[in-house]
Amino acid sequence: MRDVVVAIDGPAGTGKSSVSRGLARALRARYLDTGAMYRLVTLGVLRAEVDLADAAAVAGVDVPISVGYDPDEDRAYLADEDVSALIRGDEVTRAVSAVSAVPAVRTRLVELQRELASGSGSVVVEGRDIGTVVLPDADVKIFLTASAETRARRRNDQNVAAGLPDDYDGVLADVRRRDHLDSTRAVSPLRAAEDALVVDTSEMTEAEVVAHLLDLVHESSGAMR
Ligand code: C5P
Repeated sequence: MRDVVVAIDGPAGTGKSSVSRGLARALRARYLDTGAMYRLVTLGVLRAEVDLADAAAVAGVDVPISVGYDPDEDRAYLADEDVSALIRGDEVTRAVSAVSAVPAVRTRLVELQRELASGSGSVVVEGRDIGTVVLPDADVKIFLTASAETRARRRNDQNVAAGLPDDYDGVLADVRRRDHLDSTRAVSPLRAAEDALVVDTSEMTEAEVVAHLLDLVHESSGAMR
């Protein structure tokens, strides 16, 4: 099969991250987690203690970020510090929507994401605006969806497994709040590209979704030959 560029977008809780990693593994492709990049900038902004509501101050924070390409390893660095666990914490998760709504932050990261996605070999790029803004010429564009209730149940199950309190209603409210912020922001709101293949994962296991996406990639790359 020739090299393919796959864009995978969708809201939180659709299984996007596990599925994107699984697809990258199956394709022996590089994997780029753009959410991790927004989380890295957010951690840098929190550490700089600037007001999150002050877009100019947020944009002015200079953060030397880097991420890995390996779908089996979560590697995210601020300068030389491995912060892969820290960027998944509550504090960053609460602040990331505000930071990612700042246009100058997006411009900078989109440019970096295009650079990181280029080069030889296949690549799976995961985010919110990959098919619409970052890589509009991607060979395959996938938009994952699932009902807010399904996404909240999955997230709450993960929390409980990680020893956090069982709070389905709270998680559902947070899922709805993040959906609203991400889909109504002025710059690059979350939406499926016109030519994206929409896959509803509500009733599918992770393995079923990966197998389905692999079929879609093979079909499209067959059509590209
Ligand atoms: O994918 P993840 O949940 O780690 O992304 C964290 C946040 O980063 C999202 O809620 C969204 O606000 C932002 N994001 C974005 N554009 C992307 C990827 C993530 O705005 N391409």
